[in-house]
Amino acid sequence: MGKYVYSFSEGSREMTDVLGVKGANLADMTNIGLPVPFGFTVTTGACNRFYEEDLQIAGDIREEITEKLEDLENVTEKRFGDPSAPLLLSVRAGAPVTMPGMMDTMLNIGINDEITEALAKMTGSERFAYDTYCRFIKSYGTIVMGLPKSRFDLVQAAKRFNEGLEDDEEFTVDQLKSLAASYKNTVEQLSGESFPQDPEKQLMDAISAVFLSWNGERAVLYRKLNDIPDNMGTAVSVQSMVFGNMGEDSCTGVAFTRNPSTGENSIFGEILLKAQGAEMVAGLRTPDNISTMSDLFPECFETFVKIARLLEKQDKDMQNVEFTVEKNRLYILQARPGERTAQAAVRIAVEMVEEGLISKEEAVLRQDTSQMGQLLHRGFDPEKYKEAEVLATGLPASPGAASGRIYFTAAEAEEAAKNGYEVLLIRQETSLEDLAGMVAAEGILTAKGGTTSHAAMVARGIGKCCVAGCDSLDIDEEKRIVEIEGEVFEEGDFLSIDGSTGKILRGKIDTVSPELSDEFSMLMEWADDFRTIKIRANADNPREARQALAFGAEGIGLCRTEHMFFMEERIPVVRRMILAATDGERRRALAELMPFQKTDFKRIFETMGERPVTIRLLDPPLHEFLPQTADDIEEIAEQYGMTYEEFEDKVKNIREINPMLGRRGCRLAITHPEIIEMQVRAIVTAVIEVKREKKFDIMPEIMIPLISSDRELRLVKRYVTETARRVMEEEETEIEYRIGTMIEVPRACLTADKLAEEAEFFSFGTNDLTQMTYGFSRDDTGHLIQQYEGQGVLPADPFHSLDMDGVGRLIEIVAKNGRHTRSNLRLGMCGEQAGEPATIEFCHHVGMDYVSCSPFRIPMARIASAQAALRGEADL
Ligand code: PEP
Ligand code: MG
Repeated sequence: MGKYVYSFSEGSREMTDVLGVKGANLADMTNIGLPVPFGFTVTTGACNRFYEEDLQIAGDIREEITEKLEDLENVTEKRFGDPSAPLLLSVRAGAPVTMPGMMDTMLNIGINDEITEALAKMTGSERFAYDTYCRFIKSYGTIVMGLPKSRFDLVQAAKRFNEGLEDDEEFTVDQLKSLAASYKNTVEQLSGESFPQDPEKQLMDAISAVFLSWNGERAVLYRKLNDIPDNMGTAVSVQSMVFGNMGEDSCTGVAFTRNPSTGENSIFGEILLKAQGAEMVAGLRTPDNISTMSDLFPECFETFVKIARLLEKQDKDMQNVEFTVEKNRLYILQARPGERTAQAAVRIAVEMVEEGLISKEEAVLRQDTSQMGQLLHRGFDPEKYKEAEVLATGLPASPGAASGRIYFTAAEAEEAAKNGYEVLLIRQETSLEDLAGMVAAEGILTAKGGTTSHAAMVARGIGKCCVAGCDSLDIDEEKRIVEIEGEVFEEGDFLSIDGSTGKILRGKIDTVSPELSDEFSMLMEWADDFRTIKIRANADNPREARQALAFGAEGIGLCRTEHMFFMEERIPVVRRMILAATDGERRRALAELMPFQKTDFKRIFETMGERPVTIRLLDPPLHEFLPQTADDIEEIAEQYGMTYEEFEDKVKNIREINPMLGRRGCRLAITHPEIIEMQVRAIVTAVIEVKREKKFDIMPEIMIPLISSDRELRLVKRYVTETARRVMEEEETEIEYRIGTMIEVPRACLTADKLAEEAEFFSFGTNDLTQMTYGFSRDDTGHLIQQYEGQGVLPADPFHSLDMDGVGRLIEIVAKNGRHTRSNLRLGMCGEQAGEPATIEFCHHVGMDYVSCSPFRIPMARIASAQAALRGEADL
């Protein structure tokens, strides 16, 4: 038989697998001489045996527990179950990975009628003794016996009411005695068993209850969400109790060794006088600031500050410390790395490097990339946010916080913003036409669509907060109202949205703007030194390009030219081009568009200097540029001198049932070469002019979308090279440029060797590639995917985090076969997944040259790619 129980002094920090994080930490603190109440830990192996042996603690393990209990009695000079020197115990769960609050904890084990009396005599406080007894009966009844906590709460509330009290603190000793009796009755009534007076039974029951909580609903769900194996098991730490509720000179407290919101290097925390730890967590009474401790218990505070520093040195991280002062003596109950905001994480890591505690590599590795959005976007004022009411929840599509008056069309949103209102745009879903309204709004809320819906992608691109796919919205655009969970909100009413959590909140909540600190810049510089993959931006205009540069982009990996077609003065020309009856008419419209496009490209090249810029030729199906609503059709029909019906017919002719699989991408180029000839002319002329004017050495990358065969690629490439040649001849100059293709269609993946003969670079458009590999429509499947995730059919949304097994496998084939044909083939990814940390790690391992994501994700991508490189090195 192995060893299943270790005294704290027998353990060490290396024994986390056996003793759990908590047990190993208690062992460690004991061994460095901190004032930790003594105890022992029952191992994770014992938990697994508990399940093997039909939910029983095996005889040999019981014996080991009893032996360690005797040691504990000797150290504390108290006896478990002995009224002359009673020892009370706490029993706490602690798995090898932290699972905060997911399993059970029990305090005050070993108390019964007789011991309560004895405790009262010894401490001189009947109040303390009966208060403790009441707490224990209640927790034994609920945790061990599984009785409803509400019944105990009801008994307690009834007693308060009958006695005319407002607060539990006001209970007199007699009232507490009667409460203990009522609790015992409740146990008996509900379970048919009397409350056990035998301390040993209480202890074994408590340990069993903690083992059982390993398989409780909360813990199982948490493990599933965090990929923690079920057979890991939890350890149980049994510790002699100290009492923060023993009287005026006692308290319980929780403190962080540095400020968890700002990262400032000073102790931050709270204490609750005359209380036990659980009350602090329950938040029923308002605690005092930790500075009170320095007034009330100055010596304890001084020791605490020293211990805090020591713990940080030992663990090389900011700590969250739970402690108790019992009769003016300090005890440390637990210490573990503390949770922190993204701002605090950056400052703490950088300052710890400066203090020589950790390396730069460690500082970069410690950043939680999923939190980094907090650094760059507006957030709600934390005080106001605490009080906010959540009305519904959608998908967190683009981080940040927004508050504004609601408007239901892009045009009205724009108008209201012009009039000085803060605006929240609410749409069923958004389309290209809504862009101006989205730019004008503080945030965007949609009822449909997932995290790669148009709304989500555009919002991320322009750095606006967005909540998408919120089922609970019932929008009536005609009446200008939205119903949320039965409540109606009208145009102009205030709502707020949190794009990081998907919450929709009542009314207006103040927001605060982010400040990028010096520590942030320093950390980014370190990350840049470690990463090997380049970071580019998806940017469609000079404003986004400037934003991308400010965040550290090294180029543009995707410039979607269609967004340029939507501006007020261009869209009528674009529509004329689409609706043209003859080639000549179409060419005339295109000739009108060309100067606009050229100027757009010039501005982007000027902004980006000599950094690489990839411009994608027109991609979307043409009907997206045509009016969608009846009002719009009517207005535009009039402009064209057609009847409503005539014009509607035209629009219908062009509209496709499944436009994502229709005449778009290179198919558009092949059937209407004149469109891309105009675009190539605009690109080449822009390069020539910027080179002349600014003397920049620019080599543009022209990218062809939606290629599925080498024949398509050859044909479109010919249109591109012939047009470029013509322009260069006209301008009597030469420029260099690259031609590449997006990889968005499974067939392109399987024929990558042939495509690489024609293309100098491949850019994975993983939005379309995921859509076509899975057969999930990227625009309509948001809810289905949520349900799939809920039922565990999908581990994650593949439009958010790359599906490594399927789409990732295709990408690996492309990388291998493509580079077999052309060894210097450049590879990048520009789908939305390229801004997600796990996908970036994948791209690093596949050997991509760059990832390209929306500007606001660039700092996160810099950190994530550095982490991938550092972890990769560690694996070698
Ligand atoms: C893609 O498909 O991944 C891509 C970047 O192109 P778009 O999202 O514009 O279709
Ligand atoms: Mg695409």
